[in-house]
Amino acid sequence: MKRTVEILGIPFYNVSQNAFVDELMDAAVNKKRKFIVTANPEIVMHAQQDLEFNQVIRQADYIVADGIGVVKAAKSIGKPLKGRVTGYDTMLGLLEKANEMKLRVYFIGAKPNVIEKLVEHVNVKYSNIQIVGARDGYFAAFESEAIAEDILRSQADFVFLALGFPRQEKWISAYLEKFEKGVFMGVGGSFDVLSGCTKRAPSFWVKFNLEWLYRILSQPSRWKRALAIPRFMLAMKKQRRQG
Ligand code: UDP
Repeated sequence: MKRTVEILGIPFYNVSQNAFVDELMDAAVNKKRKFIVTANPEIVMHAQQDLEFNQVIRQADYIVADGIGVVKAAKSIGKPLKGRVTGYDTMLGLLEKANEMKLRVYFIGAKPNVIEKLVEHVNVKYSNIQIVGARDGYFAAFESEAIAEDILRSQADFVFLALGFPRQEKWISAYLEKFEKGVFMGVGGSFDVLSGCTKRAPSFWVKFNLEWLYRILSQPSRWKRALAIPRFMLAMKKQRRQG
């Protein structure tokens, strides 16, 4: 991986949101295979404890900074990143361009009613996209092989997986070798948002870098997960000291 900034041992690709979408589009059009991880502080912290996950994300072609915490951390060590590159915005950018070029997209993840709504939405908003597969994310491990075969047959240019981390990244890494082409990206809760089932933080919260706080307030069950943020800040402080 080139052009990276290392944060707690994780190499983040230094790219702007728009340039990243263009780069992935180029890869898709040229029938290349790419694995993308969008990582926030929670994911960085998880990678410190879960060695299997750590190895999985190191196989990615790109790890990008999906979280203001990572962007600030990079700045604090004097190696600024160009900005946030979120899974959600990357997916939107790619859908837009995939629509212009009539490309093939496969969606896996979220609850059955969410994926149904997502397909309806994509069919209306991006009517030139060929949806070559769509299924919910509540399948058993033994079904994974058949799903991978189905993706292979579908000749998908883009495969978006909304299974939550670390499952989506582990899934991609387990089957990646099967494929010669396709842009594979885990997108967390993005199907819930794009389908209209969950609201993304209003722009005010995003502008003031408080999207993480909005998510805790609107889904209080997430507060435990949010503890990763102070743990991340502490670990960064230590890294800076060790310099
Ligand atoms: N999900 C899924 N299968 C599962 C568990 C979760 O498809 O077995 C979906 C869930 O419905 C949601 C997404 O994965 O759409 C996880 O969203 P979250 O916001 O928690 O993403 P994260 O922050 O973990 O990336």
